[in-house]
Amino acid sequence: MQRIAWDQFFLAQSHLISSRSTCTRLMVGATIVRDKRIIAGGYNGSIAGGDHCSEEGCYVVEGHCIRTIHAEMNAILQCAKFGASTDHAEMYVTHFPCVACCKSIIQAGIKAVYYAKDYKNHPYAIELFERAGVEVKKVPFDEHVLSNTAQIEQTVIQTVQEVLQQEDIPQETITHLEAKLKEQFLK
Ligand SMILES: [Zn+2]
Ligand SMILES: [Zn+2]
Repeated sequence: MQRIAWDQFFLAQSHLISSRSTCTRLMVGATIVRDKRIIAGGYNGSIAGGDHCSEEGCYVVEGHCIRTIHAEMNAILQCAKFGASTDHAEMYVTHFPCVACCKSIIQAGIKAVYYAKDYKNHPYAIELFERAGVEVKKVPFDEHVLSNTAQIEQTVIQTVQEVLQQEDIPQETITHLEAKLKEQFLK
């Protein structure tokens, strides 16, 4: 069985948490990781107990929805609230951070940002990250890692076993199936 790579694992977490976003303008998710441990996560949403854009519509001022707190900020604030240090941590985020989040990420001591999709990558954010020595890397997210591969494997194996139990299967069919299975599952 092939294990999921760490970066895809943390990005999967960010994509999953982005599905909790209440601002439909952009579904963003962020995960803060230290020593390969997830210490916080955030999504684009209103303050606790506040109105949701998904129900009330966005509160747009000068082209921006001002109701929501960005995913990256929410993740950092979760650390502030519960007392987890973000110094030298890494962030995995679904989209390239905006300038405001970029500044907060740097100021929180986060040393690396891995993002899945470009999003209006602001030159000033790129410059600030560079000057602060924050490693910024685009890591495209492979959506397939979210599918339940173990379950799929089980189903395929069962199906093949059923087929093989039938009589009169030409040897060449069996050999072909075996080769296919090896190719798929025994990498
Ligand atoms: Zn909104
Ligand atoms: Zn932001």
